[in-house]
Amino acid sequence: MRKPIIVGNWKMNKLNSEAKAFFEAVESYLDGNEAATYGIGAPFTCVGTCVANKKHMVVAAENCHFKDNGAYTGEVSVPMLVELGVDACIIGHSERRQMFAETDETVNLKAKRLFEAGIMPIMCIGETEAQFDAGETMTVIHDQLHGGLDGLTAQQVGSMVIAYEPIWAIGTGKSANKEIAENCCKAVRDVVREMFGDDAAEKVRVQYGGSVKPENIKDYMAQPDIDGALIGGASLKEDSFKAIIDATK
Ligand code: PGA
Repeated sequence: MRKPIIVGNWKMNKLNSEAKAFFEAVESYLDGNEAATYGIGAPFTCVGTCVANKKHMVVAAENCHFKDNGAYTGEVSVPMLVELGVDACIIGHSERRQMFAETDETVNLKAKRLFEAGIMPIMCIGETEAQFDAGETMTVIHDQLHGGLDGLTAQQVGSMVIAYEPIWAIGTGKSANKEIAENCCKAVRDVVREMFGDDAAEKVRVQYGGSVKPENIKDYMAQPDIDGALIGGASLKEDSFKAIIDATK
């Protein structure tokens, strides 16, 4: 049985005072016996505050560098994340692929370095609207998974999270319908099966992301291959995150 995992992605939002208030409010709403794991991906500046205020939630960074140190102005390394005490790290988010030149190759290097450090990668993949319209979704899923997961072990892949996020659904309010989301998350699992075998495929948790809200999360979670969600906009307000917890606990 896969335990679902629902992670908010704050992106470039929240000051430390706001992060603390959010964690205090949401943690007091959880008792640790929920059916799902909940977490937050936080900007580097407030990761420490989130870690200091977490009880049942997991805290993820939103990016990392694959080198441990050196002349990489503005970057944050995996040992620095270890020092902060993060549980997980989002890699390959489409905003980083599109605006900050993230590639399958760097995603792969980051995943390997995170595993060495015992931090769980949440690896994002997904097609653009043009690729969706051209019927290329399955090819994109296949290629991004082959690039991103190359050289990992079956045991590592079985322990990670893969977030399928169609780019056309991110921040647009235009979420993929549950059939499309299920079909694509199943395709993710099938590629994992091809590459790493049944055990990894049965264990890997596949999230859907893209305009997930309290009103639609139940529909996604009811799908057999969707094991959670990566949630941007609807994770920013305590009330809407609590409503997501209510819909899934
Ligand atoms: P959204 O963002 O929920 O605001 O569409 C999702 C994401 O970028 O992970």
